[in-house]
Amino acid sequence: MSRKHRPFLLTGAVLVAALAAGCGAAEEPAPMSEEERIEAEARRIHDAVMTLCTHIDIPFNYATEEVDPGNVNEEYQVDYPRMQEGGLNAGFFVVYYGQGERTPEGYEAAKEGAMTKFDAIHRATSMHSDVIELAYSADDAERIHAEGKLVAMIGIENGYTLGRDLSLLERYHELGARYLGLVHNGHNDIADSCNPREDLGDAEAEHGGISEFGREVIAELNRLGILVDVSHISRDAMLQAAELSAAPIIASHSSTTALADVSRNMDDEQLRALAANGGVMQTVALRSFVKTDPPEKTAAINDALAEAGISSYGEIRSLSEEEQAAIRTRLGDISAEFPVTVSDFVDHIDHAIDVMGIDHVAISSDFDGGGGVDGWDDASETFNVTLELVRRGYTEDQIAQLWSGNTLRILREAERVAAEMQAEGS
Ligand SMILES: [Zn+2]
Repeated sequence: MSRKHRPFLLTGAVLVAALAAGCGAAEEPAPMSEEERIEAEARRIHDAVMTLCTHIDIPFNYATEEVDPGNVNEEYQVDYPRMQEGGLNAGFFVVYYGQGERTPEGYEAAKEGAMTKFDAIHRATSMHSDVIELAYSADDAERIHAEGKLVAMIGIENGYTLGRDLSLLERYHELGARYLGLVHNGHNDIADSCNPREDLGDAEAEHGGISEFGREVIAELNRLGILVDVSHISRDAMLQAAELSAAPIIASHSSTTALADVSRNMDDEQLRALAANGGVMQTVALRSFVKTDPPEKTAAINDALAEAGISSYGEIRSLSEEEQAAIRTRLGDISAEFPVTVSDFVDHIDHAIDVMGIDHVAISSDFDGGGGVDGWDDASETFNVTLELVRRGYTEDQIAQLWSGNTLRILREAERVAAEMQAEGS
């Protein structure tokens, strides 16, 4: 950005300031507008702090010729060049495997799926070791960032990936996993999901929260120094996990029901339980969790589908190619009429801070598994979040806490609890 220079009279105060800044020229840049001043301050802070997103999904063909994160690939929301462009310094890449049948074959497939993604993250970071490195601890993450590289960390989404085999957790820890999302959509052997799966025969609740096996899993996670992640679990299970875990827990990608009443978000009582445990919610910028559709939007979508002669999104594929293109354009136009912005997203951060205090709030995108907020819809747009925080008067220290300080603090706490437990156990 170039700014026009124009001469103006130096008042005493400005002259003193100019001389103090070692600038004796009689010509000074035009004073910045308030918006320019905020943007410059936000740029400075964005560069100074370490930004960390705790939830970035990857496909099964990640780090192959098809999906090389070393290149810009517009089909995805995150790759290394756009992380650098947007100043997204660090990310937890997610080993996700969807819930399936709880049979020996199902567990085996889940374990293999998890291994595929662990391998992919390791391969990606070694293919591009000049720009990114895998961190195994909070200290690692800070060192790598200080060396000017991107930081990769690993989280697992869905405890289905360990089946009933507790010993797998040690293996996953060695491979770099530093959090485990206990469940995904559908109950598993560890806990109830906030989204039961009828197709898997789920009742509303199966364990009434965390199962007996789930308690063993939480104790083992504490012993290893893997954070317990409560995003996706039922309300009861979340409240129990906050009580059971000896180390702080996280909600790696959840927002608040006070502003968007969806099952994946957390109500104020849950937020208070999280804070009492010492945990952190990484507020998620996933469009439908930031703002639920207003009735006018739902009506407009239903009208558009009806005019196309169908009644659900799932039926779009039954239309001719031409009709599909037409309905997709129409739905895109409707979506554009009802924007969900970075400001809407930061409203959730504000609310979470009101309830829990700033020590318990952080930031996530759920990119490549969600995302979709206007203004932060891929890694290259990450600055806009910092800009909105600065606009709302957050200080550099607070922004540093929100972006990575809080998450790394509790990872250290989990590492400390693990060391203690291992010392006691040996
Ligand atoms: Zn998820």
